[in-house]
Amino acid sequence: MARTERLYFTDCYLREFQARVIRTSPDAKGVRVFLDRTAFYPESGGQPADHGTLAGIPVLEVVNEGEEVAHLLRDNPASESVQGIIDWTRRFDHMQQHTGQHVLSAAFERTGGYKTVSFHLGTDASTIDLDSDRVGAKQIEKAEELANQIVFENRPVQISFRPSAEAGEMDLRKPTFREGDIRLVEVQGFDLSACGGTHVSQTGAIGLISIRKVDHTKGLTRVVFLCGSRALRRARQDFAILSEAARIFSTGLESVPELISKQAQELREAARLRDRLIEDLAELEALQWWQSAPERGGSRVVRRLFEAEEGKKAKMVAHAVAKHASAIALLGVKGKPTALFFSQSPGGNVNMAEVLKQTLAKFGGKGGGTRDFAQGGGLAESHLEEALAFAEVLLG
Ligand SMILES: [Zn+2]
Repeated sequence: MARTERLYFTDCYLREFQARVIRTSPDAKGVRVFLDRTAFYPESGGQPADHGTLAGIPVLEVVNEGEEVAHLLRDNPASESVQGIIDWTRRFDHMQQHTGQHVLSAAFERTGGYKTVSFHLGTDASTIDLDSDRVGAKQIEKAEELANQIVFENRPVQISFRPSAEAGEMDLRKPTFREGDIRLVEVQGFDLSACGGTHVSQTGAIGLISIRKVDHTKGLTRVVFLCGSRALRRARQDFAILSEAARIFSTGLESVPELISKQAQELREAARLRDRLIEDLAELEALQWWQSAPERGGSRVVRRLFEAEEGKKAKMVAHAVAKHASAIALLGVKGKPTALFFSQSPGGNVNMAEVLKQTLAKFGGKGGGTRDFAQGGGLAESHLEEALAFAEVLLG
């Protein structure tokens, strides 16, 4: 069986290489190209595939096919001999995140005995899942601290190959069940893992390891982290966001949370005060309108239309009118949706729910209520006036 020589196995820093096309096979998206050797990393072990070009043609996907590596291209390369160029920005970013993961996983194991059960290198952030849902803030901080200590010490990261029997005897962070030669990645004096991924050659190149989010799910703790350039970009964004908040509040960065909480409290108090004032206003308006309302069948009927933003007040007015003797309120509120509030003094001789029901039956909308208070809405705004007049006629 054919086998692609994986150049990244021994040299993760190889960005350009020459290779020979062994064979090609058609694919729905283009053509799958197989080479004698490649520096392209195929998607596996939580790390996404490399991008770049082969013979100047963009490489869309790189996947493992047994011992071979398939490169998906839109077109066939023109010649048998091809030059491969790796998209280095993307690859180096993956190397930072992936090596950072080794260090962070080992740090969690050393500080709290937590084992990493899975790893995902995402477009925006990476995650590891730890084998316990009881990893607290203190333990997170301890592991982050140790991981960055290892970065600052700039320890060598070395690649070696050992026969599986020999590797099985070694103190690997996670046992391997692969056969043949095992590729080992060692962060000197800190972590030894069997891994086929691409890594930086010294821990300093990882850059800062920053934990961004911690989620506890059933039996697991998911740790979201960023390394190197990603951590820098995120810190820059954080700074911009915080600076903008500080600018809005005209304060220093450190005072932002305190100011937000103070203003939120003031806003709640202002809203409470406004509600009280609306209630007072509703009582006054209700009294005024009740006093000047025409009588119909022994009741004073207050019939009014409110603007869309006065919905809250309209409901209060409906209740306030009903506090007066022999009173009926037929109130409509404009807007989308419209609203209707029908009320009467307790024990009055009309059934307001019935009046509302008949009104809605004629003009559309939904609603309901009791004998003394009913509310609804949803009819067309252009019919509100007519609907209130219709309801008044129903009063008899
Ligand atoms: Zn690795």
